[in-house]
Amino acid sequence: MKHVVMYSGGIGSWAAAKRVIAQHGKENVILLFTDTLIEDEDLYRFIDETVEETGCDYVRLAEGRTPWEIFKHKRFIGNSRIAQCSHMLKQEPARKWVEENFSPDNCILYLGIDWTETHRIPSVIKNWVPYKVEFPMAHEPYLDKSEMIAELELIGIKQPRLYEMGFAHNNCGGFCVRAGQGHFARLLREMPERFAEHEAKEEEMRLYLGKDVSILKRVRNGRKQTYTLRQLREDIEANQQIDMFDIGGCGCFVDAPAS
Ligand code: SF4
Repeated sequence: MKHVVMYSGGIGSWAAAKRVIAQHGKENVILLFTDTLIEDEDLYRFIDETVEETGCDYVRLAEGRTPWEIFKHKRFIGNSRIAQCSHMLKQEPARKWVEENFSPDNCILYLGIDWTETHRIPSVIKNWVPYKVEFPMAHEPYLDKSEMIAELELIGIKQPRLYEMGFAHNNCGGFCVRAGQGHFARLLREMPERFAEHEAKEEEMRLYLGKDVSILKRVRNGRKQTYTLRQLREDIEANQQIDMFDIGGCGCFVDAPAS
């Protein structure tokens, strides 16, 4: 029996891997990473160091396109409800690899979802049928992210730098179409050049599609409106109020596939 951990580069997937290794032995564990090709450079440092420390087999998959290339192909910019990037760059390649290498009765899959996110578990289980999926971090001892980071640093490995900058996840280099205004405001503050690249990509897609579309939405006079990254930046630069509590979250590997 092999134990395959969906190794996203996030601290939760590392903590889950450590629990799986403790239970089943490193020789029976595979760390599976799917690369969106817009990952933060420090994610690769984190993966390299933790893979070496665990001594597990490691598999990197890359579909070959970035999220923006997927949006162009689909003629649709991802948003908090529909993220084709997650489906096509994460879920599909992982599923294909698992099916090519294992039958449902000779592997178990693991995700780093923790006890604060258990509402996500039923859809993951449903999506992976007939494969069995387990969630080590949803069980005792319950750890929060800072406790997981403390455990990581105890073994001499530095946390991914995006966490130090205050990002909630370590996916897609601090970008995420599922994220909200507060998350993108952080990206603008911490990595303005990276924000500018995504702002330019969004503008390019709006021209390409010839439509008023955007990743973010805002509510004006009780109505939802598009809210481009450019508008967000201009509002922040003009000290206009934005919704800093709109953080959003990444559902890579987790949510139901988008069509
Ligand atoms: S982190 Fe966000 S942008 Fe990146 S693949 Fe996942 S849903 Fe898409």
